Amino acid sequence: KTCIGDAQRICVICHSNPDGDAIGSMLALNGCLKKWGKTAQLIAPNDFPDNLRWLDGASDIQLFNKHQHSIGADLQQADLIFCNDFQSFARLNDMCKVVEHSKAKKVLIDHHLLPELSQFDMAFSDTSVSSTCELLYGILQTMGFLPQFDKAIAEALFVGIMTDTGSFSYSCNHHSVFDIAAQLIAYDIDVKHIHETVYSTFSEYRMRLLGFCLSDRLTVIPEHKTAYMYLTKEDLLRFNYIKGDTEGIVNYALSIKNVVFAAFFTEVDGLIRISFRSKGKIDTNTFAKTYFNGGGHLNASGGNSTETMAETIARFEKELPNMLT
Ligand code: 5GP
Ligand code: MN
Repeated sequence: KTCIGDAQRICVICHSNPDGDAIGSMLALNGCLKKWGKTAQLIAPNDFPDNLRWLDGASDIQLFNKHQHSIGADLQQADLIFCNDFQSFARLNDMCKVVEHSKAKKVLIDHHLLPELSQFDMAFSDTSVSSTCELLYGILQTMGFLPQFDKAIAEALFVGIMTDTGSFSYSCNHHSVFDIAAQLIAYDIDVKHIHETVYSTFSEYRMRLLGFCLSDRLTVIPEHKTAYMYLTKEDLLRFNYIKGDTEGIVNYALSIKNVVFAAFFTEVDGLIRISFRSKGKIDTNTFAKTYFNGGGHLNASGGNSTETMAETIARFEKELPNMLT
């Protein structure tokens, strides 16, 4: 509280390729700061999916990759930076250096495994919660902020919890997820409408891309209980890919009976992005960290590769036996 009270220039940032939890937690925190009479600058390393744009305040989020110079200067001059939904500056891509070198106090609010605590001046890190939004709710509650909540803040937090739990289907074995969701719904938010807006607003192209991916780009390896899919740059171009179109596709591979490990490779921005998902105790975090420069959670992680698609997939198949022993 003192930290916030003393700060003149506050920034709230999140990881690159922001998702519902990253955007939701930035907007909810900003909503609370505003009520506290504080103005904050919201900064994402790059753009976020269209299905999150309806959230109150989303249009205030600035994109570092669009205005590197001016936003870089703002980050330099900040005296307090909230770091939402990422555990290491490495997740900031091109924004990494400027945040690292900023003299601002950096406050981590995150739920990813293996946080690099030395990078932050203060850390709220809890890897047992569903989402950064769940963690943020707890922090705001402890700070006595709940009475100042409004519908927009509740919506933002609800979206983060809903998207990071796959609509309350994973990372939600603890009753607190549902307790908090119930508290948020009491702010008169429209759950059905939120769900429709986030999950049922795909373009026709995206649905056909999904169909193509499932029919032409799916490989199942029964001996390793693994399934993977990939989409090349050309595939994405053919189906008029826009950001967000590949979100959730990896879960289809994991939803096959007897498959316990799934991977999804996409060629975007000159890099192979990989999503890993697993069932049970299969540790995607260690696999992503060891072989693909990434990390995340036990059952959901991400990584990347600078090799070609064919090389990346060959390496994946080669390391697979290590993963499952
Ligand atoms: P997704 O596959 O949806 O992009 O990411 C799955 C989970 O892993 C998310 O919680 C995401 O924040 C995390 N994640 C994605 N990429 C990385 C990465 O490169 N490093 C780490 N540590 N976590 C990641
Ligand atoms: Mn998250």
